[in-house]
Amino acid sequence: MTGLSDSFNRPINYLRISVTDRCNLRCTYCMPLEGIETLSHDDILRYEEIHTVAKAAAELGINKVRLTGGEPLARAGLGSLVRLLNDIEGIDDLSITTNGMFLAQRAHELKEAGLNRVNVSLDSLQTGKFKEITRVGELEEVLKGIEEAKSVGLNPVKINMVVMRGINDDEIVDFARKTIHEDWHVRFIEFMPVGNGQQYGRERYISINEITERIEPIGSLEPHKLDGNGPAKYYRLPDAKGTIGFISPVSEHFCFQCNRLRLTADGKLRPCLLSDDEIDLRNPLRNGVSVDDLKKLVKKAIDSKPECHNLKMGTTAKNRSMCQIGG
Ligand code: SAM
Ligand code: SF4
Repeated sequence: MTGLSDSFNRPINYLRISVTDRCNLRCTYCMPLEGIETLSHDDILRYEEIHTVAKAAAELGINKVRLTGGEPLARAGLGSLVRLLNDIEGIDDLSITTNGMFLAQRAHELKEAGLNRVNVSLDSLQTGKFKEITRVGELEEVLKGIEEAKSVGLNPVKINMVVMRGINDDEIVDFARKTIHEDWHVRFIEFMPVGNGQQYGRERYISINEITERIEPIGSLEPHKLDGNGPAKYYRLPDAKGTIGFISPVSEHFCFQCNRLRLTADGKLRPCLLSDDEIDLRNPLRNGVSVDDLKKLVKKAIDSKPECHNLKMGTTAKNRSMCQIGG
């Protein structure tokens, strides 16, 4: 079925599912060194419960699903969830956002299970700095993961770089140059001063305009269509193999084209990343909710999507951090 839309007439077709709030990394801007207080095993939706929600959402018109976290590949048996979701009629785009540390070992299995594509978060191409940002990550592992994902056909592999002033903004051009000779689809994302990022410092924020100005001297950016209806605007440097995308949640919010709902690992539907409103699905699921009533709850979440966030004015979600929602 198609034609699902919210009360501002925005088509809604995308569900982001956080499968865990746990993570093997401790990116400075996302998680405190000691980690966060994590959910207990029982609090987290089981794969069958996630499947039930996704199936109800697909019957309403959702056709894109992304798995995120925490670190989705840190949850055991993710391939079996991918398989369950891949069998749902109506879902034709199944993807994952990962830090890439376990990707080299898991890419093949995920592809076989029905995953279509992968986004890898990578904020530095320098071994030492990568370690500083992630605290415990190994750049080599992530680069291997990217290559493996490409070779098993999880394409396009998109590389998401959160740009932070004084941390990695000196690598903007290096990332952009990577797209010239390699099939890299790099997306520059504005740092959002939310969650742990608030403590990290608002001064880290750097706008997409400034990022673009830093890239322009290496070549003119020609508009390019990469895919779908996400918030990124894509370009290509002359004769480049890959593409460059820009995502500007702060300077030029894309709420007017917001097409998504988020499901947290403990089974709350969030109409908006940056609002604390949530609708609980876990209790209804565990109390035998009917498919029709589950669909009504999904519809209620869609109907309660706000028109716009107010991040520029400093208004943001307070009850959860990015690693608990999944970005
Ligand atoms: N662990 C996975 C990963 O890192 O790709 C998935 C979850 S992570 C929370 C999803 C995305 O949120 C990552 O690309 C991360 O860089 C981004 N993120 C986290 N905090 C952010 C912030 N304050 N501003 C912008 N992006 C942020
Ligand atoms: Fe983990 Fe992703 Fe947050 Fe880094 S950005 S700490 S990898 S959840």
